[in-house]
Amino acid sequence: MKNLFKNLVIIILIFLAVSAIFSFFSEKNQKPEKITLSELANRINQEKIDKISVNGQEVSVKLKDGTNAVNQKETEAGLIESLKNLDADTGKLQSVPIEIVSTSTLKYLLISLLPYLIPLLIMGLFLWLMFRQARQGATQAFGFTRSLVRMLTPQDKKQKTTFKDVAGLKEAKEELQEVVEFLKFPAKFKAVGARIPKGVILIGPPGTGKTLLARAVSGEANVPFFHISGSEFVELFVGVGASRVRDTFAQAKKSAPAILFIDELDAIGRHRGAGLGGGHDEREQTLNQILVEMDGFEPDTQVIILAATNRPDILDPALLRPGRFDRRVVLDLPDIGDRVEILKIHSEGKPIEKKVDFRQIAERTPGFSGADLSNLMNEAAILTAKKNLAKMSMEELIPSIEKVLLGPERKSLVFSEKEKKIAAYHEAAHALVNTSLPNTDVVRKISIISRGRAAGYTLKLPTEDKHLRTKTEFVEELAVLLAGYTVEKIVFNELTTGASNDLEQATKLAQRLVMRYGMSEKMGARTFGEQEEMIFLGKEIVTEKDYSDKVAAQIDEEVSKFIETAQKTAHEILTAKRPLLDKLANRLLEKETIEKEEFEKIIKEEE
Ligand code: ADP
Ligand code: MG
Ligand code: ZN
Repeated sequence: MKNLFKNLVIIILIFLAVSAIFSFFSEKNQKPEKITLSELANRINQEKIDKISVNGQEVSVKLKDGTNAVNQKETEAGLIESLKNLDADTGKLQSVPIEIVSTSTLKYLLISLLPYLIPLLIMGLFLWLMFRQARQGATQAFGFTRSLVRMLTPQDKKQKTTFKDVAGLKEAKEELQEVVEFLKFPAKFKAVGARIPKGVILIGPPGTGKTLLARAVSGEANVPFFHISGSEFVELFVGVGASRVRDTFAQAKKSAPAILFIDELDAIGRHRGAGLGGGHDEREQTLNQILVEMDGFEPDTQVIILAATNRPDILDPALLRPGRFDRRVVLDLPDIGDRVEILKIHSEGKPIEKKVDFRQIAERTPGFSGADLSNLMNEAAILTAKKNLAKMSMEELIPSIEKVLLGPERKSLVFSEKEKKIAAYHEAAHALVNTSLPNTDVVRKISIISRGRAAGYTLKLPTEDKHLRTKTEFVEELAVLLAGYTVEKIVFNELTTGASNDLEQATKLAQRLVMRYGMSEKMGARTFGEQEEMIFLGKEIVTEKDYSDKVAAQIDEEVSKFIETAQKTAHEILTAKRPLLDKLANRLLEKETIEKEEFEKIIKEEE
């Protein structure tokens, strides 16, 4: 609307400008001098006239000096008589050619109206253009129903992905090999009456290669790959999501055999109950439409739907019924061997020194996803270029681990001496409590260089991939988390905001111990509260409390107890090892960063 108004103003301005120009020209050139008939007779006598043309009542006179003049003769009487009456010399009058022009009234009207018509026409043209544009905009808005599906054809060699591009994920690949077989040789399966899978859902944390694997399946089977993300389905306009689904499925069916990949399937089922007005109705319709389309497939439709999610718990159970997404493929974070493979895949095309040992990098990156590792290789390449080196070495790779883990260093963030001292003690305390407890991860680095949102950091990494965690580990971790908070009280007898993130993490961890893991003696072996906030179709639940208020009070008490105990542990260690704490903090103030080797040396010296 604002745009329309703006356009209107512009058009009016243009209109005014055009008419100004027109009137200017018509004043100057088209308006000849007006003369009376007697004047004309006079000039004839003076032999100044070149030519006269009569057009109805208008007499146009061309003078010998090149100028023009007009006369509107009032009478119907003939021009020659009138001139003679006004004493024009007959001989001289005869020597002047008189031309009678007969213009039709229409033409006459047109000519006299043209100066006014042209600006009007121009304005009309502008209005027409403007409305056409507005209409186009409108059809674009309604064109939302056309799906946003992107397609990769097997001919797209450059973008082709195969299983070779996916490291690790052995079980997932095996499972999906079946889908590939079906797309390639459907007859084989039909011959033995096997029911063809319709939907396969890929489940795994972000960055584990779900999208990559889905593309690899289409690459292996050599079929078109339709890709749409769940969040794109969800539209503001009611009904659009559903028609988009219809469209997407229609497109895929047209080019069967094909793969239709719905990324972030959970986006359609999310935020139920938390949405503002009508939002979840729309999602429900979209989801229903997906179900309808999947059920509507003829048994021999060769379209297989792959979907990806990292929140299988919030998916509607209706989606997972037989005939829909009845196959689940779970993708885990890569283990150390897979990490080496992923690093190798992503080192392709990057010049790398022979000495580089990917195993070492993999050892230092437990918990990294494939996406993190790919990111790590990219950061290292950027660093190599920044240093103007020809080849990447460990010197570039190792700092990149931290960059991916913690965000870039913020060296420009200036801290006062006092703040630096607090940060130094804070991080030294984390590290000291950590090494003093037997079941914790190894400290890799301590730093008071600001990174991401943290003022400083203590980098700890497990030595191996962990799948199960013990209560002892958690309890020790709590003490490590609270060390920063505790040390501020011990050393500065004051509290700062610097520990707030630690406290948040500690509280959440303690709550999990009590409510999820049954690790509190008093509360016993049960869980408290619904794990997740919602289920999609049918029920609407937001964190259901399945315990009484009395129990809630007990839970709080137990959580507090875990925290208090942890704080006591930290306090004991920090007061008992005060000289070591001071030494570490001072070294940090001096150097800002202490690496693993130096840290271990300082600890050993003291003991
Ligand atoms: P997801 O869809 O599970 O969030 P993606 O498939 O988008 O993850 O993965 C992001 C990127 O991480 C991929 O493009 C790829 O470069 C890299 N990656 C992830 N897993 C692997 C893997 N197993 N092998 C090779 N590269 C991987
Ligand atoms: Mg993805
Ligand atoms: Zn801290």
